[in-house]
Amino acid sequence: MERQQYFKIRNLAWEVLVKQKVNALPINIIQICNNMKISVIKANINLDGYSTIRRNEKIIYYRHTNNIGRTRFTIAHELGHLLLNHYNLTNKEKEKEANMFAARLLTPLGVLQELNIKSAEEISNICNVSLSMAKIRYARLEMLRQRNKFQTSKLEQSVVHNFQNYITNYNKEHN
Ligand SMILES: [Zn+2]
Repeated sequence: MERQQYFKIRNLAWEVLVKQKVNALPINIIQICNNMKISVIKANINLDGYSTIRRNEKIIYYRHTNNIGRTRFTIAHELGHLLLNHYNLTNKEKEKEANMFAARLLTPLGVLQELNIKSAEEISNICNVSLSMAKIRYARLEMLRQRNKFQTSKLEQSVVHNFQNYITNYNKEHN
């Protein structure tokens, strides 16, 4: 994936968090979709999820599973497809982009850094995501720590700013 595309997707996730004034974890993905006038519908489908636009209405269908972390990721992934204008087309690259968007929406690392996260399990619990995804994000967090690359843009600063109360309360209880 080209750098430009990576930045575009990352910024898009941050923009959603800022515009929707998200200020606590776990992110309420259904609320975010509803605020954006996107219907989220549980359906009996063979896929984890599917999104479409019908008469100007954006709709996300998802299959209910007992794995809430996975279901949340599916909905965030489909939101990515809709916001990235992937429409009904799909290919490997677009799947990767939607996954990237979903991960950055559900586990904002700038916020997690402020919480002084020490393990993938902690990310999984706080963000209500699967442990396998939390492990990937924890590895990324560690890498950014080595490079000290947090809040290098105004946009990410705004994301973290909105979480300030949440961060303060969390740190009072945990750190
Ligand atoms: Zn997809």
